[in-house]
Amino acid sequence: MGKQKTPLPFLRRLEDFFIPSMCIICDGARDRDDNWFCQICVDALAVNYSRRDACPRCSQNRRKRECACELAWDYPFEKVLSAYDYDDTVSAIVHHIKYKGKSQLAYHIGFITAPLLPREFFSEINFYIPVPLHKARAQRRGYNQAEYFARGLLRGLGHDLKMLRTDLLARVKNTGTQTKLDKDERLKNLDGAFTVSPGNIIEMTGKRVALVDDVMTTGATAEACTEELLRAGCASVRVVSLGKR
Ligand SMILES: [Zn+2]
Ligand SMILES: [Zn+2]
Repeated sequence: MGKQKTPLPFLRRLEDFFIPSMCIICDGARDRDDNWFCQICVDALAVNYSRRDACPRCSQNRRKRECACELAWDYPFEKVLSAYDYDDTVSAIVHHIKYKGKSQLAYHIGFITAPLLPREFFSEINFYIPVPLHKARAQRRGYNQAEYFARGLLRGLGHDLKMLRTDLLARVKNTGTQTKLDKDERLKNLDGAFTVSPGNIIEMTGKRVALVDDVMTTGATAEACTEELLRAGCASVRVVSLGKR
């Protein structure tokens, strides 16, 4: 047998760089069928999902906290679907997709999460719109994690990627980090942050939108986006997020 030529080391290094051979969450040996996780972590995600007694409207896990949405629902969106409770695993994933440049991980988590989710939530959706980043932040990060997550979801659901629309809603105000603000402060801070340009209004009139975000905290961002989408004539907005904090 002749000596095997190895034109691939560079590619392999590249692959290891982008796709580490250890589970990104626990450093365990990565599952052969999964580019990012070990089997234990994949199972942990499925358990996280299946143990949620999620309210069909607000997606609050009723095992953890009573939901009050039947008494007080003051959101402009129709309902929320959060795939996972915000545990250590989900928090690690979110950290990687937001701050560690792991755009493909955002895609992957969408792709493997899609089969867990109730199909009827997506049945009449016309457009999937990821929560947009401000241009300055998108440039710094190099990608929008919500867009990659949405892309993975669509692929996992078997829907046409043409339904993903990143051109309809823009973030025109750089609000900075909102982590220290409460909901009212966030809403105030987000006033005028999202906009649909008048040229898109005809296309959006009467459409049903799934707004896609990575993490839902107070719901203020989703609320601000929804208000703008409804103002532009969309018939309804549903929110889908990876995790509910
Ligand atoms: Zn793991
Ligand atoms: Zn509820």
